[in-house]
Amino acid sequence: MNRATIVDLRGRVSSRPTVGPPAAATTTVVTLRPRAGADGEGCERMHCPFCKNEDTRVVDSRVFDDGQGIRRRRSCASCGRRFTTVESAVLAVVKRNGVTEPFSREKVMQGVRRACQGRAVAEDDLQKLAQRVEDAVRASGAAEVPSNEVGLAILGPLRDLDEVAYLRFASVYQGFNTIEDFEAAIRELHRDRAARA
Ligand SMILES: [Zn+2]
Repeated sequence: MNRATIVDLRGRVSSRPTVGPPAAATTTVVTLRPRAGADGEGCERMHCPFCKNEDTRVVDSRVFDDGQGIRRRRSCASCGRRFTTVESAVLAVVKRNGVTEPFSREKVMQGVRRACQGRAVAEDDLQKLAQRVEDAVRASGAAEVPSNEVGLAILGPLRDLDEVAYLRFASVYQGFNTIEDFEAAIRELHRDRAARA
């Protein structure tokens, strides 16, 4: 028997027994990542996040983001609760030393945040930028991208966001060694501004 917790308008808490499964108001999002196994097929089962029961059933499947991912609504045969799983391909970034790691918007933001120190760039701007970078990298359609392509994908949106932060980022990322490197980058910014005007 389940018990429902009731909080009344004066803040008093009481509880009463309820019959049957609790209302299906609970949604839990579980991100599934394909395991890097030989074939990745089969024997693993999705456990119910509430009661850990293995017997769950898909009640609805929806593709989202133009087929980039699939969302499944599942129902637990044991406790009756429903939950949602999200499956999407992991975008892998290959670092210069050959090590692969999952693409992370947070990592993009970290790198850009450093370049934006002291600039009027909001956290929200960084999030939008990271989203643009992810979209651009995913649009290539490759499952693995070299890390320098992620860096390249950052340059354009960052230039739109803040030119000073862009120069800082580009100087590190593209290894500016002399003030001539800066001058060339600044000339390019001027050319682009003129072209846009
Ligand atoms: Zn369950």
